[in-house]
Amino acid sequence: MHSFEHDTGASRTVFGTGTLSRVPAELGRLGGRRALVLSTPGQRGLAQQVAAVLGDAAAGIFDGAAPHTPVEVTDVALARAGVLDADSLVSVGGGSTTGLGKALAARTGLPHLVVPTTYAGSEVTSLLGETADGEKVTRTGPEILPQVVVYDVALTTTLPWLVTVTSAVNAMAHTVEALYAPDRTAETDAMAVDGLGALAAGLRSLRRDPDDLDARGELLYGAWLAGRCLEAVGMGLHHKLCHTLGGSFGLPHAPTHTVVLPHAMAYNAPAAPEAMRAAAAALEVDDAPSGLQALVAELGGPVRLDALGFTLGDVPRAADLATARPYPNPRLVERDGIVALLTHATQGTTIQPTGTRVDAGGAVPADLATQPPHQIEENR
Ligand code: NAD
Repeated sequence: MHSFEHDTGASRTVFGTGTLSRVPAELGRLGGRRALVLSTPGQRGLAQQVAAVLGDAAAGIFDGAAPHTPVEVTDVALARAGVLDADSLVSVGGGSTTGLGKALAARTGLPHLVVPTTYAGSEVTSLLGETADGEKVTRTGPEILPQVVVYDVALTTTLPWLVTVTSAVNAMAHTVEALYAPDRTAETDAMAVDGLGALAAGLRSLRRDPDDLDARGELLYGAWLAGRCLEAVGMGLHHKLCHTLGGSFGLPHAPTHTVVLPHAMAYNAPAAPEAMRAAAAALEVDDAPSGLQALVAELGGPVRLDALGFTLGDVPRAADLATARPYPNPRLVERDGIVALLTHATQGTTIQPTGTRVDAGGAVPADLATQPPHQIEENR
């Protein structure tokens, strides 16, 4: 079981089991004495638990966080923070709650502590996607990055199995795209390989024993590394597609990532063979795209977009949106290829092995992306 403290730039991480008890002291380090505790409606019980641990340092709870950070919700939460005279923010939950905390922190300058309970990774990024008038706009800035993240493995044991699988594959997507990002470094390669391996191993172990706390620890550890990959390098085709499907078609975030990732990997595999070899080694499969798709199916995760509400009739518009502007990706993004990819993802076509092999030791990638790094923030 991992247990450590790690500071990266302006963001401090406390990782372990039972670390919820550390939240009052960590909030105190930020100068917080009257925190507004944030959650989704479904996680109000958890928010109450955090507020109880904080005692007098909790000013109140706002449990209205919603997916894709709608600005109307942020406005209501902002008013509540004002009424309660809150001097700090504590987000407890998944990416939806963290998004609300980031939106409030960016507007108020209040210090922000996050207790993540999914594997989305948003807690360690300076990215924020907000929805206004049905359109999701993403921005980035130092004021968005939460100052402290307290990971408590014990708080993730209540995650339903399906959310566990889809959220872990969402995290895997950050690591896979980091392996072929044009701005990757030896450090991000190492984080990506380690994170992907921890996520795959954690899922397999948890499948065998749903009460395996070490497996939950591996998953959260992998999510931390994956989130740092997302923060450190530009994402490619996969994140662009999922951003489009979530933002313009209302598809659910983590399940969409889960269906699309193997197909995006299959598309990119010919142009990123070393990244795929490293991914295959970390996943412990012979071929990364088909092996991941088979793993998701074996774990009972979603494998087709039409089960998530997307239709073949939506494919042309989605392909137009996803190819409208250039972004870094190892393989040229061409509309015909994207139409085929989305058609396969919609129908759940079984991916064939691309022929990539696992080298002993699993080398890290050396192949370089060739397209210019435009609009990186939009793709995450
Ligand atoms: P989510 O926050 O909506 O949570 C998914 C579900 O899990 C919800 O129903 C929630 O109530 C439930 N849940 C959370 N913790 C639980 C627990 N401990 N026990 C039981 N149930 C629990 O979804 P998500 O996938 O974590 O986040 C998705 C959102 O985050 C999207 O809006 C996405 O755009 C955003 N995101 C942002 C970034 C970034 O860097 N800005 C990165 C990843 C995701």
